[in-house]
Amino acid sequence: MRVTLLGTGSPIPHPARAGSSTLVSAEGLTLLADCGRGVLLRLTAAGVLPPMLNAVFLTHLHSDHICDLNDVVTTHWIMSPGPNPLRLYGPPGTQEVVDGMMAMLAPDVRYRMDHHADLTYAPDVQVTEVQPGQVFTVGSATVRVAATDHRPVEPTVAFRVEVGGASVVLGGDGVPCAGLDELCAGASAYVQTVLRDDMVKAVPSQRFQDVLDYHSTVEQAARTAARGGVGTLVLTHYIPGLPPGQEDEWRALAAAHFSGPIVLGDDLTSVEIS
Ligand SMILES: [Zn+2]
Ligand SMILES: [Zn+2]
Repeated sequence: MRVTLLGTGSPIPHPARAGSSTLVSAEGLTLLADCGRGVLLRLTAAGVLPPMLNAVFLTHLHSDHICDLNDVVTTHWIMSPGPNPLRLYGPPGTQEVVDGMMAMLAPDVRYRMDHHADLTYAPDVQVTEVQPGQVFTVGSATVRVAATDHRPVEPTVAFRVEVGGASVVLGGDGVPCAGLDELCAGASAYVQTVLRDDMVKAVPSQRFQDVLDYHSTVEQAARTAARGGVGTLVLTHYIPGLPPGQEDEWRALAAAHFSGPIVLGDDLTSVEIS
């Protein structure tokens, strides 16, 4: 199994970091978690075109995790040679978001269907709204769902993808919680969005201070990984943006609480998990 950080940025625009998005590839399966800013640029750089996606997972409906979902949907539709449903799994509310997005895309869908004689069908986004405790399969992958704690944003979920003996937890945003602990138990890898509370506290902006209470710090993510006995900790969605050369400093903060490998870095950083 290979896990690739497609986008490691946060809502604050960064010239070198796309929005939150992670790719899981295993046994011929191509699974995308979240669709932040620029997801298709990074997906293409990773060698994946939208029609190759077997499923898309959304951890929650914050804009920085879904803002380029429309690009995934449109491109998946027009690049597929025939009808090709896009399977989308997300928390309750996902269907409402997709319905609104499809309304936004209606003129484009009309233009393209009018123009291409062989395009006789509209995009087919098959939404499954998932619940904590739910287990489903995508090809040879078993996917488990748990609730996360990103309050006041609700509902939010994490996914554990298991393929061929390897497993990865896609934690999304949030603070440590029982649901994450449950999914992380014995996982090969755990991907968590993180912030540096010491750095955020130094920024004189109430709006920035507000984010402290609903994101895991680097240390909290490391402690969740240690509790679960996970193999590899993968950090992403850096708040504030991780400047070049500061990776070891962030890694050291996590290493104080977790003794396994810690992966973080630029967009397209990837790790082989077994
Ligand atoms: Zn969020
Ligand atoms: Zn976020």
